[in-house]
Amino acid sequence: MIRKITAIITCAGSGTRAGFGYNKLLKDLGGITPFEKCVGVFSRVKKIDRIIITCSKNDLEIFKQKCDGIGAKADFVLGGQTRTESVGNALNLTDDNDVVLIHDGARCFITEEIIENCISSVLEFGTGIVAIPSTDTIAETDGFGKIVKTERKNKYSVQTPQGFIAGNLKKAYSMIKEGEEFTDESGLYAKYIGFPKIVEGSPINKKLTTPEDFTIAENVYVGTGFDLHVFEVGRKLILGGIEIPHDKGLLGHSDADVLTHGIMDAMLSASCLGDIGRHFPDTDPKYKGISSMKLLEEVVKLVNKSGYKLKNVSSVIMAQKPKLAKFVDTIRDNLALALGVEKHCVGITCTTLEGIGTVGREEGIAVQSYCTLIKE
Ligand code: MG
Repeated sequence: MIRKITAIITCAGSGTRAGFGYNKLLKDLGGITPFEKCVGVFSRVKKIDRIIITCSKNDLEIFKQKCDGIGAKADFVLGGQTRTESVGNALNLTDDNDVVLIHDGARCFITEEIIENCISSVLEFGTGIVAIPSTDTIAETDGFGKIVKTERKNKYSVQTPQGFIAGNLKKAYSMIKEGEEFTDESGLYAKYIGFPKIVEGSPINKKLTTPEDFTIAENVYVGTGFDLHVFEVGRKLILGGIEIPHDKGLLGHSDADVLTHGIMDAMLSASCLGDIGRHFPDTDPKYKGISSMKLLEEVVKLVNKSGYKLKNVSSVIMAQKPKLAKFVDTIRDNLALALGVEKHCVGITCTTLEGIGTVGREEGIAVQSYCTLIKE
């Protein structure tokens, strides 16, 4: 039997917990809203025949405009008082043989792959509930702030989409008793029809709920920094605050730590705070011979004071000689400590320049760095 596949995306919520005073699905995430992101992913899944969006009367026009803007075709159903009612209204538009996927519009980081796996599960097993094993221990309380028991084994965090054969889900809906409320379809189905099958979800498939969730989604700033220093015999070679054995070092007003300079400029660029030349001029005797790690400490303070927090740095060191691979681990440890991040947030690669150009002729070392900052 060929089944038509319908996605029902619930967008009727008011999003009170996000506290924007308007539907959180219309919050600007840097040029795109969660609504557009979410509907966009579903509209790219070729297997899906129809998208039905539940929404409130207030948002109907703007949602229609947004769909036109991203070239997505969708039908709209006005939501009811509760989520159960809204989905029920949309279900009435489907045929009993259809596959229906119910999805929460606030899970806008959903991927095409998860949706396709969910569809396959419904076609094979009759159901497909996207969920991930719980990494937290789940506590059951007495309802008065005291824990009765805790458990993690066999516990899952349930996400969406949740897929069913429409007729079966309609049957479950018809059995809901007066005053009975379900937070999602999987619980309803388990109670009245049978135990639905789990499909592997992803931690990325997060539901945007609180204002903090939106901070993470929108406020990432990328920075880039480049530096080059020439070699001079008789100087120490310092990279990332570590002395590297070599027959010459880099020339500069400070200790000429080209790697740390690249990282500092990336951070200052991401936060639009100028560059290291402005903050630590090489005409100032105060900085003569200074350890660049000291300057890095200053940059971290400056950046933090401006409301940014470092997420990660990534640098490539371009050097024909010496071979640096065996020092990378120690350098990462040292920089992570100075930057106040975990080691896995400091990535460093090394390359020669195949004997070409200034670096290739062993006249110096160059560094290209990137970083991401989160604006708090
Ligand atoms: Mg420099």
